[in-house]
Amino acid sequence: MDESPKIFTQIPAFLEYLGPECSPAIANAAPHGKLDLSPKFPFVCSRHYADLIKKANEPEALLREILPHVDERENVAGFVDDPVGDLPAGKADCVIQKYDRRALIVSTATCGARCRFCFRKNYPFQNIPDVARQVSDWLDTHSDIWEVILSGGDPLMLGPGEFRDLVEAIAMHGSVTTLRIHTRLPVMRPDVAMQHFEFLRELPARFECVLTAHVDHPDELDEESQMVFGQLKYSGWTLLNQSVLLKGINDSAETLEKLCRKLFVQGVLPYYLHQLDHANGVAHFEVSDEKARSLIEEIRKRLPGYLVPKLVREIAGEKSKTPV
Ligand code: SF4
Repeated sequence: MDESPKIFTQIPAFLEYLGPECSPAIANAAPHGKLDLSPKFPFVCSRHYADLIKKANEPEALLREILPHVDERENVAGFVDDPVGDLPAGKADCVIQKYDRRALIVSTATCGARCRFCFRKNYPFQNIPDVARQVSDWLDTHSDIWEVILSGGDPLMLGPGEFRDLVEAIAMHGSVTTLRIHTRLPVMRPDVAMQHFEFLRELPARFECVLTAHVDHPDELDEESQMVFGQLKYSGWTLLNQSVLLKGINDSAETLEKLCRKLFVQGVLPYYLHQLDHANGVAHFEVSDEKARSLIEEIRKRLPGYLVPKLVREIAGEKSKTPV
């Protein structure tokens, strides 16, 4: 039985777990002197994701998603703490409403691992003792809301009881017909995602259910993500994926084509390819709009239309995502 921790929070222990066979990829992802051992945005990586790195075709790509780089300390003009305008759209401690008759719940600060390019890496997460009560109170006075999106952090990191309470509180409001969950757990912590499975399986009888996964690289998908997606699809969930276009990680037509095809094999449709949100500390991941458009043009030639994601960016204050 593997006695390694399920979560690494210390970089040296994580690197030791990866072992010497990953040394060349680590040196590529964070060359000597570029690894930040005491990052402002904490390092967290699951053992599952470490195992994905070990068996990856492009381990340096996955390492770049997870290893703190000293470039995160740079202040770059145009990169801010709240790039997508979450704070001005806040309606209650955990409720954000940007779009007409749809609301997003920041249900937890916790994630299965910490992505270095996170758009909420500077978000002032609060410890909200009773998210379900607060959401319910807010929905009581907003009977026009028809879709609720659970975001975070990662909503599936809530304990099974808390998660159930939150969904039950939403279900008490008859106006809400669609429940959407934004999660990275099928690739970060499939074991934790599966803990919710019994309850998730019941939900399509009560809502239209959409799971929007966040997968950036084909090497993040394996038999465990396939198990999670397969079970949800079988239960009646609509499965979509959004990726972030990231320099040195997925900014090639080959990688994007592989990602879209592998998602489809696992029952998930590519939905959005996001241009990077300009959060402080992520500028080194930026891909130009010109390159982004040419990548989409290239994969449009390689894939059927239903596998080509929409290239978008989120602009604070806009009433929808903006096509690039
Ligand atoms: S899973 Fe989402 S919220 Fe969590 S660190 Fe990654 S991008 Fe940020």
